[in-house]
Amino acid sequence: MSQICCKCGKSEEEEQIVDGFCLSCYKTEFPLITSFYEKQFNLTACKLCGDLMYHSKWHEVHDDPKQTVLNILEIFLRKTKKESDAKVVLIEDFEEPSFDVASKQTLKILFEGTTNKQVPPYQQETDLNLIINIGVCERCAKFTRGYFESIVQVRSDRRVINDNEQLLITELVQEMKDKRAETGDRMAYISKVVDQSKGGVDLYVGNEKFAKSIAASLADNLAASTEYSTKLKSHKDGKPIYQSTYCIRLPYFEISDVVSYLNNEYQIIGIQQGRAALMHLKTRELKTLAAKESHPDYLKVLKKKDQLQKYIIVALQPPNVSVMNEVSYETLDLDISAIFEGHEDGDVILMVELPDGLFECKEL
Ligand SMILES: [Zn+2]
Ligand SMILES: [Zn+2]
Repeated sequence: MSQICCKCGKSEEEEQIVDGFCLSCYKTEFPLITSFYEKQFNLTACKLCGDLMYHSKWHEVHDDPKQTVLNILEIFLRKTKKESDAKVVLIEDFEEPSFDVASKQTLKILFEGTTNKQVPPYQQETDLNLIINIGVCERCAKFTRGYFESIVQVRSDRRVINDNEQLLITELVQEMKDKRAETGDRMAYISKVVDQSKGGVDLYVGNEKFAKSIAASLADNLAASTEYSTKLKSHKDGKPIYQSTYCIRLPYFEISDVVSYLNNEYQIIGIQQGRAALMHLKTRELKTLAAKESHPDYLKVLKKKDQLQKYIIVALQPPNVSVMNEVSYETLDLDISAIFEGHEDGDVILMVELPDGLFECKEL
């Protein structure tokens, strides 16, 4: 006897019958999912930073709130009990959630799978309400109160911070902020930057760990030393709260200065990743010191860059050269090895006066 669908009466000739249902009726009779993990998909958006909270955990939004919603939705759907091996094949495009006003919208989710080996995979579209409430995350709450755990101070030794260093500090801090976004450490923020003009900069940092990594990066890249101190700030629930300070001290030496290193005289021609590049003033040999040696313990300043003087080449007469001080007009005869090769009469060059004579330096 031919089977018929017990629901719509379709015959076996018209459509395959499985367990008394035609395939069309089977889909509605045996849904792939019957209910979601929770009735509604509830999120809270921080009205200040736009981050989203699901079950008390904040998720960083960066610049794509929809992607964050989808990431959290994945967690939600993983917890949703399915009747089969059904998979999500499509989530219909939805509106980007606003973090100014609470909102509600319906997400249309398409599942595919089967509950019975004899029935080929079928699809089921299910609606889920996405509810977004508005709040403030704990980080923004602390941030707006100006809360910080640590201060990173950048100072220089007996000089102003030069423009290159200023620029490098800005770049490094930005780099650290960008990196922080990847670590997901939500308290790794800088709540306040106080620019002491050339005297340095103070960074007020949300947590100790982030302050420590900023301090390490600045010290490494600027050939600086670090002093660390803490002081008792307050008590919370009977526990002492400390505030730490990292003082990054830039060395007295800087690019262009003439220094002594292992009893030889060099000009500092660069500082890269905390390593000083030197030019020997007599042999012009170049060398790059290890970070450990790019330090005031090894590099003693003989002349600061503003003590270097300009001279005009008056007469090139190998093996001698006559040079005239641009300010005092005093003329001196030197061994030609004191200047670089390739000069012509009339060239203006930068020289340093050391106990054993004048030597040309690079203009940097
Ligand atoms: Zn049927
Ligand atoms: Zn926030």
